[in-house]
Amino acid sequence: MYCATCDSDEQHRPLTADEKTWLRARTGRRSVDEFFVCKVPDCRNVRSGFNKHPFAPVIRVPLPD
Ligand SMILES: [Zn+2]
Repeated sequence: MYCATCDSDEQHRPLTADEKTWLRARTGRRSVDEFFVCKVPDCRNVRSGFNKHPFAPVIRVPLPD
């Protein structure tokens, strides 16, 4: 899938349970199942399956502690 912040096609993964909890709180959305995270280590940009740039400014998943 295309990553808008990498400006290239990159591997994405579904969010983990902890990341979904975080993103729900971050966005106020009830469901965040449609979102994916860019697997590039320094990127971690969130996109949905349909929308390469759903958030402005972009949302990046924080690194786990
Ligand atoms: Zn990326």
